[in-house]
Amino acid sequence: SSQKTCDRAVRGTNDDATVSKLSCVQLGYFEDDFLKYFVRRASKRAPIINRGYYARVSAFRTLVQQFLDTTDETGSNPEKQIISLGCGFDTGFFQLKARQCEPKRYIEVDFPEVVAKKADVIANEEVLRQLVKFPPVQDGEFHGGGEEGGYSLVAADLRDLDACIKALSRANYDPSLPTLVLAECVLVYLPSDGSQALLQWAAKEFSQAAIVIYEMINAHDAFGEQMIINLEMRGCPLLGLAGTPDLEAQRSRLTSAGWKRSEGCDMRTIYENCLDPVDVRRISRLELFDEFEEWNLIMAHYCIAYGVNDPQGLLASFGLR
Ligand code: SAM
Repeated sequence: SSQKTCDRAVRGTNDDATVSKLSCVQLGYFEDDFLKYFVRRASKRAPIINRGYYARVSAFRTLVQQFLDTTDETGSNPEKQIISLGCGFDTGFFQLKARQCEPKRYIEVDFPEVVAKKADVIANEEVLRQLVKFPPVQDGEFHGGGEEGGYSLVAADLRDLDACIKALSRANYDPSLPTLVLAECVLVYLPSDGSQALLQWAAKEFSQAAIVIYEMINAHDAFGEQMIINLEMRGCPLLGLAGTPDLEAQRSRLTSAGWKRSEGCDMRTIYENCLDPVDVRRISRLELFDEFEEWNLIMAHYCIAYGVNDPQGLLASFGLR
């Protein structure tokens, strides 16, 4: 059916992201020792694509590290939880685990097909298998959990909130832990009532939490419309775009879902003002780059927005600056 074709195209966006991130790794934009295991055929991307992924990955890494480094009023670092929605082949857990700074629980959710493939790669790759404590349990899912915590990889269709909650329960998610929810380039593929339900549930369920989303914005100017046409020609309807025309709307969808503090920046601002300037200078020398006009236009059409619920002030300094 056409629904199935669309879902396949949506899952395909993960392969695209993974190959692009590996292209960055191979050219020296950022390090990732694990991505290579998830790519069958590597391919070098254009400089403008590499630089865009560099900005996105650097910003997410900064926010994840900020969250993990957060200490309470006594100066000690409480146990934490990360939940990645539409995780794809993201290697965040393996990177943290290899540096021994993983949170108590790290839970990843994606379509069953993506989860099965990811679990298969993990189970067959010694380096990855060693970083994951628990053997695959059922249907290719990893259920690290129990008292000691760990890594979980579970399958659900994010459009189905009940299924999503059930999957997180199989992963033994803990609503009492300070939690960081990641949705990197995911909500745009969900119908807006579906993503709103998810955002609302997370805002209610976790009492101390932040959620970070990477989304498209300004989709209704001439450049944005052409970007969307290009994406949809690959077979993915961008259902989540309808209600979110600009950065302000991305923030207010978080607020109206119950996230008390919400902020956001477009990716051009993030690249220019929020990343480590020494590192930005370093990557500027990696490839010849002269597409400034297109770069500024593209980067003005993506954003990172985040919402924070934090009655005890644990995450008061969490954010991009
Ligand atoms: N977050 C990863 C990253 O940024 O590298 C992957 C991003 S990829 C563009 C979008 C991911 O969201 C894919 O892995 C896709 O399978 C997942 N996804 C989209 N819609 C979904 C749904 N309804 N249920 C579960 N996963 C979904």
